[in-house]
Amino acid sequence: MGKKADKELIIGGIRTDQRLPDQMRDVEMEVGVITSSNGSAKVSFGKTTAIASVHGPRSLFPKFLQESTTGIMRCRYNMAPFSVDDRKSPGPDRRSTELSKVIRQSFQPTLMLEDYPKATVDTFIEVIEADGSTRVTGINALSLALASAGIPMKDLVAACSVGKIDDTLIVDLNGLEDNNSESDVAVAMMPRKNIVTLLQMDGVLTKEEFMTLLNTAKKSCNKIFEQQQATLMEKYKGDE
Ligand code: ADP
Repeated sequence: MGKKADKELIIGGIRTDQRLPDQMRDVEMEVGVITSSNGSAKVSFGKTTAIASVHGPRSLFPKFLQESTTGIMRCRYNMAPFSVDDRKSPGPDRRSTELSKVIRQSFQPTLMLEDYPKATVDTFIEVIEADGSTRVTGINALSLALASAGIPMKDLVAACSVGKIDDTLIVDLNGLEDNNSESDVAVAMMPRKNIVTLLQMDGVLTKEEFMTLLNTAKKSCNKIFEQQQATLMEKYKGDE
């Protein structure tokens, strides 16, 4: 992050996984992957796969955590030990604590939990394969899982990563690109309302580069949003 790559990662305009700079990896989405949860989804961006599970709204204990006028949402992001080549030590660490917090915040503007005072919606993201951009993959999965759990939301949340490697602006960083990027930016947004709900940047960009990347990210989030909608429609068609 925030450094020049040791080797060339873009040769003749093509990335190491044969993508063009503005090309996302193949995106796969599935809703209803865990029968015991209220809502669940699995999303893959290439070799990165995250599963999200939603439980609630349900009573929140201990009671002193309850909010009398609204429900709350809690989130736990976790990367499985087997999700990366070098085994990741299990359990929470500083990175997963930070990601759990920013992912929760990226849903705060869309959730309408006023009808569920004193309740909690507990959400879990498990990254089962990590090849870059896990936080945004997890957010896309959680958005589908919350919708399938019937949690009232003003809009879905769609997310993607953008960045700069070898002086080239790119979208959807894989693990190699992420580790060698001059800059990487995670973006989540409410696409219909055009509200950005997560913006995190590592490294250095000029203002022009940043604005170009933000526009690219918005376009990619809109594509992801269309696929999220199509996935939900396909799952629930005929349920009315
Ligand atoms: P994101 O996954 O959202 O891009 P980071 O920038 O923190 O978040 O991580 C980039 C990538 O680095 C991850 O997607 C994963 O492929 C790899 N990675 C992160 N943490 C570890 C770890 N503990 N061990 C091995 N690889 C890791």
